[in-house]
Amino acid sequence: MTDHALLDAAPVPASVLGRGTATLQNAFAGLLEQPADGLLGLIALHRADPRPEKIDLGVGVFRNDAGATPVMRAVKEAEEILLGSQDTKSYLGAEGDVAYAELLAEIALGRALAGSERIVGVQTPGGTGALRLGAELLARARPQASVWIGNPTWPNHAPIFAEAGLSVKTHRFYDVARATIDFDGMVHDLAQAAPGDILLLHGCCHNPTGAALSNEEWQAIASLCADRGLIAFVDLAYQGLGDGLEEDAQATRMLFEALPAVILAYSCDKNFGLYRERVGALWVQAPGTQVAATVRGNMLSLARGIWSMPPDHGAAVVRTILEHPELRADWARELDEMRHRINLLRQTVAAQDSRLGFIARQRGMFAMLPVDGVAVAAMRRDNGIYMAGNGRINIAGLTAQNVPLFVAGLAPHI
Ligand code: PMP
Repeated sequence: MTDHALLDAAPVPASVLGRGTATLQNAFAGLLEQPADGLLGLIALHRADPRPEKIDLGVGVFRNDAGATPVMRAVKEAEEILLGSQDTKSYLGAEGDVAYAELLAEIALGRALAGSERIVGVQTPGGTGALRLGAELLARARPQASVWIGNPTWPNHAPIFAEAGLSVKTHRFYDVARATIDFDGMVHDLAQAAPGDILLLHGCCHNPTGAALSNEEWQAIASLCADRGLIAFVDLAYQGLGDGLEEDAQATRMLFEALPAVILAYSCDKNFGLYRERVGALWVQAPGTQVAATVRGNMLSLARGIWSMPPDHGAAVVRTILEHPELRADWARELDEMRHRINLLRQTVAAQDSRLGFIARQRGMFAMLPVDGVAVAAMRRDNGIYMAGNGRINIAGLTAQNVPLFVAGLAPHI
């Protein structure tokens, strides 16, 4: 009888008892239950709330004045071009779309740095993929190193580095009560960092606080990295949504110019509105061209072991936009419009209550309110205002019409 005939003939057993059955029954016993994602829970609560005046400041996506997260005009046009011209879905390789990474490097790093032979880059699935690939690279290169992250930071930072096997340490960053960066506290804590440790920095539009280091403070960070031998790892996920495309990249470029070893994890998911397409890139500056080639080989071999190769569509859209001058100009224009909306909302909120003046001084989609979990729950219950439990709000979730309602709901709690 052939194997095939045997399979056809045998009745499918309800369970097969063997010496390993007990082991198999405990196959997943080592797993602990995981807490549900707080922001996803918030979406469900907001959806179920029947009040028409409810305000969703939870999830971190850009919204227009109608509360929508539209596909950008240039993205729609690029997708049409791709639909008409793409003639294969064959594999691209672990580095992804090479032209995408080259064109994007000019946006992120500027033309001079983008041409450097000491800088190597690959496409990644989103900024998250870039952070993870960078973390894996560091775990290979410096398994004993610690990664220093600020308090607070994007909640995914610590798990991304920890899952890669690096130890994560926290430095002071932001004083919520005073609504300012605690730069002295940051520098004081980083005195504990060992040579070869990694310092994670938000290139612009800090998530969750919106607080930005001054030029002098960025210079001091560069000196600190140079003096103490810290590897700067920049997370740039909101270029163009703070002060402008060029302005938002200044700190990153300065670090690349000042330091021999720097890492940049980049996301196109906000500034091209491509969230679900997962578009990112990782660049590493090595001290020399030979090391750069070794770094690149390791980035590719690590990528092959994690996702093999990144998804194509979103990066192909970004490449198409950057290849066509008129699409590129329209993308930059729409990004300007998005940024102006956010910054106008910041000013409108600040003008309503002098205690909220800090919101106008900060940049990007987020701000952190000086409120506790009790106040967050009360605003949800009494005013239909939804925000993360730590008081982080997505400014773009506001509209010109609902700012007074928001400030009135918040006022008793600050
Ligand atoms: N870094 C920061 C600071 C972010 O806020 C985000 C997205 N919320 C990312 C990285 C990851 O972006 P992506 O969606 O491209 O993975």
